[in-house]
Amino acid sequence: MSGNAARVQAIAQITNRKPMTPKAPERLEDMWAENVFNLQKMQASLPKAVFKSIKKTILTGEKLDASVADSVAMAMRDWAMAKGALYYAHVFYPMTNLTAEKHDGFISVQGDGSVISEFSGKVLVQGEPDGSSFPNGGIRDTFEARGYTAWDVTSPAYIMETDNGSTLCIPTVFVSWTGEALDKKVPLLRSIAAMDTAASKVLKLLGNDEVAHVNSSCGAEQEYFLVDSNFASQRPDLLLAGRTLFGKAPAKGQEFDDHYFGAIPERVQVYMQDVEETLYKLGIPAKTRHNEVAPGQFEIAPFFEAANVASDHQQMMMTVLKCKAKEHGFVCLLHEKPFAGINGSGKHVNWSVGNSTQGNLLDPGDSPHENAQFLVFCGAVIRGVHKYGPLMRAAIATASNDHRLGANEAPPAIMSVYLGTQLEEVFDQIKNGSVSDSKHKDVMDLGLSSVPPLSKDAGDRNRTSPFAFTGNRFEFRAVGSNQSVAGPLIVLNTMLADSLEWVGNRLETELGKGTELSSAIIMVLKEVMELHGNVIFGGNGYSEEWHTMAVKERGLENLPTTADALPVLKAEYVKDLFEKTGVLTPVELESRFEVYAEQYILSIEVEAKLVINMAKTMVYPAAVEYLSQLSSTIANLSSLGVSLETGSAQTVADLASALMKTTGELSAALEKHDFASTEEHMNYCAFTLRPLMDQVRESGDAIEGEIADSAWPLPTYQEMLFIK
Ligand code: ADP
Ligand code: MG
Repeated sequence: MSGNAARVQAIAQITNRKPMTPKAPERLEDMWAENVFNLQKMQASLPKAVFKSIKKTILTGEKLDASVADSVAMAMRDWAMAKGALYYAHVFYPMTNLTAEKHDGFISVQGDGSVISEFSGKVLVQGEPDGSSFPNGGIRDTFEARGYTAWDVTSPAYIMETDNGSTLCIPTVFVSWTGEALDKKVPLLRSIAAMDTAASKVLKLLGNDEVAHVNSSCGAEQEYFLVDSNFASQRPDLLLAGRTLFGKAPAKGQEFDDHYFGAIPERVQVYMQDVEETLYKLGIPAKTRHNEVAPGQFEIAPFFEAANVASDHQQMMMTVLKCKAKEHGFVCLLHEKPFAGINGSGKHVNWSVGNSTQGNLLDPGDSPHENAQFLVFCGAVIRGVHKYGPLMRAAIATASNDHRLGANEAPPAIMSVYLGTQLEEVFDQIKNGSVSDSKHKDVMDLGLSSVPPLSKDAGDRNRTSPFAFTGNRFEFRAVGSNQSVAGPLIVLNTMLADSLEWVGNRLETELGKGTELSSAIIMVLKEVMELHGNVIFGGNGYSEEWHTMAVKERGLENLPTTADALPVLKAEYVKDLFEKTGVLTPVELESRFEVYAEQYILSIEVEAKLVINMAKTMVYPAAVEYLSQLSSTIANLSSLGVSLETGSAQTVADLASALMKTTGELSAALEKHDFASTEEHMNYCAFTLRPLMDQVRESGDAIEGEIADSAWPLPTYQEMLFIK
């Protein structure tokens, strides 16, 4: 077997690995939400009046009554302790895409030295973690480091079981002591409230007497890679950066499409089942699993839920995927581009809005009334994407996602809307005022004399669009696999709130003039199309022509890197949007720019240091070792009068020299610390550091392709992607 000793050993161990024995399957009904303190469990354990009060709070999102909190806390504690939990944690979602938790024991020491378990309503409702080590983007000075966490009652408490014990987890919001949002949950809840207000107004104008609370829904498809932990532990880049910084493409990649939807390898399937069981117990409705396009890549998708709960569940899902992988001898990579030249991972965020009285508002529906309502909401979305496309781009801007966007496997960094031919035709006809009979069969009657009938089946799919209508929802495909879905959802809900507000005002004006409702709808939608129809695009989003046309003819922005996209958060129109909808104050928005920019800069600088390290301590020594073997062989042979082609020695020597030259340049570039602004620093990372890192890598990958396999110190792409 080839490969250096450590790799050979890893391969041997992996080949001998057996899948973990799958647990005997439990009945789904028995597992379901077993570890969640949900309404059913509350009903069983709380006095009637208390239950009624908390249920109302949960359904309406109102403030929890303090008198109720004590009873709920006690019931929650008893339930958690009966399941073996001695600790509780306020779980919160800082601006970093991560999940944070502060653990406290139920233990309370009494005057006589005895202990009792204690958990009051006050503690349930509010916690006080030291917030100073969480990024706050300048909101707080360190002497005001206190941050508060407060239970978000709309997201249920649950027990997280690990091998080390069980903890009662309470999903919370995280705010500064002056009340500013320090997390992703507060703005998400506010964005839903803003969208609810605007949507309710429009629904009433459309003639609905009864309009329930409008919520937003989300179903997020999560892609990930699994690499055997024996390989991953030999790759400093995978351990520290979550992606490979060196590595030559294998002779065979994904070109045969033989992995996508193929049979799931046995070890992986056992892992997936273990993940799903844990998720079911946590009340997370995992629904779909399959192999993805790249070798070693997979997907898991839950059934959709209310956006706020879906967002918390998404965070839990990422945690479970990573933890369970360890137990099964894998490392789960959530990075957007772990392997250069191989498809990366995204997270398709399926999003819609609806309520219990009108149902899914992005579903064309069956009746003429529903069809018209659908077109109004769809029009509002179109306007939103056109006005705030750059903000959508900023919401998915991370150092890691930059590797994927626009790489002709993922949607481009230009935001456009794909409607499908049918719906596009309908909107075009509204715009041109030339309504003709639709050519298509199985159509719906809009009941509006001037609107063409609408086909029920959206049918066709366009994988190259960043934001596509898929029949009864929009699918935001450009979101990164590593990201919290909260950020994208905040932007979608907020821009829709703004658009619905505009649509509502326009409808009101028209109706006030005595215009008939159906004509008023057409007039407003026509206006939407005239002002914003440019954002609709049904063609190939990967093509060169689109990149040129989008910018030159359509006036859309192309923001290829995070350094280009994040400054959008400072734009006046974005500040206005968040302020008037009440989702983020200017201070909160500014702090988000600072935090995200700092993370971008830090992650690139850390990677740059790692590239230097690996080049110097692994790649260069491998080249030198090979050269020394080769040169002594050449010398020995020549003493026997045998000559050996020395071209390879020269090639490797040249590559090693080039490697060290660019590594030196990268080291020198990292020395620069004086930047006039955060923007300048980001640009430096994007346009100076990254290209240098790529140059170092280029020499490194060429060396891997030239020297003896046994001299190469890192597990190869071939090994990591194909050996399971
Ligand atoms: P595909 O791979 O074809 O995009 P999947 O079945 O993998 O489809 O994922 C579709 C996702 O969209 C699922 O999470 C599903 O629950 C979700 N979804 C369906 N309807 C809605 C809706 N109204 N709002 C939000 N998400 C939805
Ligand atoms: Mg899918």
